Amino acid sequence: MDHLKELALEALKNTGYEEISLSSLSSSDYSKLPELINFLIKHCNEKKINISLPSLRIDAFSLDVMSKVQDVKKSSLTFAPEAGTQRMRNVINKGLTEEDILRGSHEAFLGGWNKVKLYFMLGLPTETDEDILGIGDIANKVAVEYFETVPKEKRNGRTIDIVASTSFFVPKPFTPFQWAPMNTKEEFLDKANKTRKGIMSQLNQKHIKYNWHEADASMMEGILARGDRRLNEVILKAYKKGCIYDAWGEYFKFDTWMETFEECGIDPFFYTTRERAEDEIFPWDILNCGVSKSFLLREWKNALENKPSSNCRLSCLGCGAASYGVGVCTENGKA
Ligand code: SF4
Repeated sequence: MDHLKELALEALKNTGYEEISLSSLSSSDYSKLPELINFLIKHCNEKKINISLPSLRIDAFSLDVMSKVQDVKKSSLTFAPEAGTQRMRNVINKGLTEEDILRGSHEAFLGGWNKVKLYFMLGLPTETDEDILGIGDIANKVAVEYFETVPKEKRNGRTIDIVASTSFFVPKPFTPFQWAPMNTKEEFLDKANKTRKGIMSQLNQKHIKYNWHEADASMMEGILARGDRRLNEVILKAYKKGCIYDAWGEYFKFDTWMETFEECGIDPFFYTTRERAEDEIFPWDILNCGVSKSFLLREWKNALENKPSSNCRLSCLGCGAASYGVGVCTENGKA
């Protein structure tokens, strides 16, 4: 804690920046977050420095903090349910439940918020139409929660404004889904279409806006994420043809990439839509990230059976990360 406080103060002093952001994948898991945020609020308010918050678990504490550092009328509340049904969330071990979302929304609506962003993924392993249509259902339930929580006379001419966004799932190395097949572009777009129709059929559809991510960029990401050395040639050739700054939509030349794969005689779908055999040797197996392949395989099989894994803060699941002797699992003499 003292180290973080010192780093924050030094960074602000030495850079002169007017905003500090806290970012991590799961900031709410940091046990001293309230103390750190309260410290920053005090310091930053005095110096008129903005604080940008990480995505927090929505509870009384986070709403209190958010109301101190954000303009409630302008800012939105963000939830990442990732999937439309609890079954699908169990597959990806996402602890957030529908009740959590509705409870968090309820508290936030009482606190004056009326904008909600919901993030989902399409194309997760084992996904069904029910999971896809569940996205519209959740968005609608959040709208209903607003109307039930905030009576008409207290809305002051405002109403609920929900943005549901979907990105396409890209399996990554060193995760239980490194064996998983990725959807094709056509499947992705079909799913985005179903999601859109599902939202359109909701009672509160006019309060829900739907955005989805580019499928071509996701496919490229999927190829490179689980690529091997044969891609070197493709990357070099595509670069020479002007494929630079691909992460910026206006510079991304998907057709040039595909043409280059063809010239090199490489099938891009080998890297994306193919389910890997359990005993396949991966290009990244030469690296040791601590977490063992056997653990990831066990988690992959559990995911296919819709079995969520428990929180390893409560009981170690033997993932192997402790072999590096650092991190959560070695705190308090655990693992
Ligand atoms: S406690 Fe550590 S070793 Fe055990 S499952 Fe969690 S991260 Fe892995």
